[in-house]
Amino acid sequence: MLDHTIAAISTSLSASGIGIIRISGDEAIAIADRLFVSHKKKQLKDQKTHTLHYGNIIDPKQDEIVDEVLVSVMKGPGTYTKEDIIEINCHGGVIVMQRILHLVLTHGATLAEPGEFTKRAFLNGRLDLSGAEAVIDIINAKTHLALKSSVHQLKGAVYYHIEEVRREILELIAHIEASIDYPEYDIDELSDDHVMGRLHAIEQGIRKMIQSSEVGKIIREGIKTAIVGKPNVGKSSLMNALLKEDRAIVTDIAGTTRDVLEEYMNILGIPIRIIDTAGIRQTEDVVEKIGVSKSKAVVEEADLVIMMLDASGEITGEDRYICDLVKDKKVIVLLNKIDLSMEITEEDIRLLMPNVTVIPTSIIDYRGLEQLEKVIKDMFMLGDIVMDNELYITNVRHKVSLEEALKSVEAVKDSIQQGMPEDCWSIDLKSTYEHLGEITGDHVGEDLINQIFSQFCLGK
Ligand code: GDP
Repeated sequence: MLDHTIAAISTSLSASGIGIIRISGDEAIAIADRLFVSHKKKQLKDQKTHTLHYGNIIDPKQDEIVDEVLVSVMKGPGTYTKEDIIEINCHGGVIVMQRILHLVLTHGATLAEPGEFTKRAFLNGRLDLSGAEAVIDIINAKTHLALKSSVHQLKGAVYYHIEEVRREILELIAHIEASIDYPEYDIDELSDDHVMGRLHAIEQGIRKMIQSSEVGKIIREGIKTAIVGKPNVGKSSLMNALLKEDRAIVTDIAGTTRDVLEEYMNILGIPIRIIDTAGIRQTEDVVEKIGVSKSKAVVEEADLVIMMLDASGEITGEDRYICDLVKDKKVIVLLNKIDLSMEITEEDIRLLMPNVTVIPTSIIDYRGLEQLEKVIKDMFMLGDIVMDNELYITNVRHKVSLEEALKSVEAVKDSIQQGMPEDCWSIDLKSTYEHLGEITGDHVGEDLINQIFSQFCLGK
């Protein structure tokens, strides 16, 4: 157990219905008893675990009621941190929450650092490190799939997959070392082929997890999609149609969508992060110019560019300029406003961008949208993302450790192929084992732990 008792406001520090002050540690219940007068005049220390009590928080110095509250008593180890936890549910006003926190701090608790409750859950062995990281991912989830994947991770999905591979590695290390240390015992024959076969299985397991991170990135961040085109081609209308609500400003005066908007949404279950850019064109207007340079930056970092043209007019110099800007990206071209007329053909576009997918659309009639959704899905080779039995690595830190682990498995294979002695094999195998242990927190330094938890919010 960690030595001091910590406290923080765990809800948002803004006016809301309820505010929660959370206290964790050996002194949690005693501190609360100094400040809480229950309706039934009973002390919290005499209450059963996981019970809720009605009463008042008082300022003992001034003998004054600070707020009417509900206090939950949760005794360790069956709690979030495995320590005793008190949660004071007060009214969600900034002053009242701060006043109660101040009382708690002046009666024996220390202010918790960001993420310290979850850090304790990890240090006290309730969560592995990937599980603790899932907590922050749940809080920050931008899409339904991201949430689902994070909950899966919290429940141990990453941990179990990693531990399975680590167990295999450990068995292999034990086997190799036993045959080095006790050559006189005829331990199951340790042929190169046998070790290679087992290494291959380990390598495949790691590779599969690394590969899953491509979809994992999409699950976490969505496909970063830029909608580009000269002013008035229908970019905002497209975004609104996809969002199925009017969020971007749609007008028919050229150049009004001046800023970059960002929205998360789902297309047939695929998380998409749409970035609607100001119309890209060469312009003298200063405000627009800012928008235009932003657009260029957005195109550069986009995973997918949806380029729109007004099919009821001719291809203009501006269109050509934009084609040139996006030609090296994954691009889908929409020939929009086909309800008016279709002056531009798919062939005209192919002359500018040979292999691009072209879809004729009429956004106001919702024509072509289904095809757009299908093309996106095919383009990113996303089958149905099924979370229940598949693991997707969504955390970049995990991916980096997996890549390091893979390098050391490859090093073992090289050593075998080059006829190196067996003790060289086990050095690299141990390193594989340790790199995988970085993911679950089995092999991590204090600095990394501090860095991970510092990304959390206060009170979590
Ligand atoms: P943006 O400047 O590219 O964002 O273009 P907007 O989405 O603001 O659209 C400009 C104008 O074109 C608006 O009046 C839209 O209603 C209209 N518009 C958008 N899509 C279509 C379409 O498919 N057909 C027709 N006829 N008008 C459209």
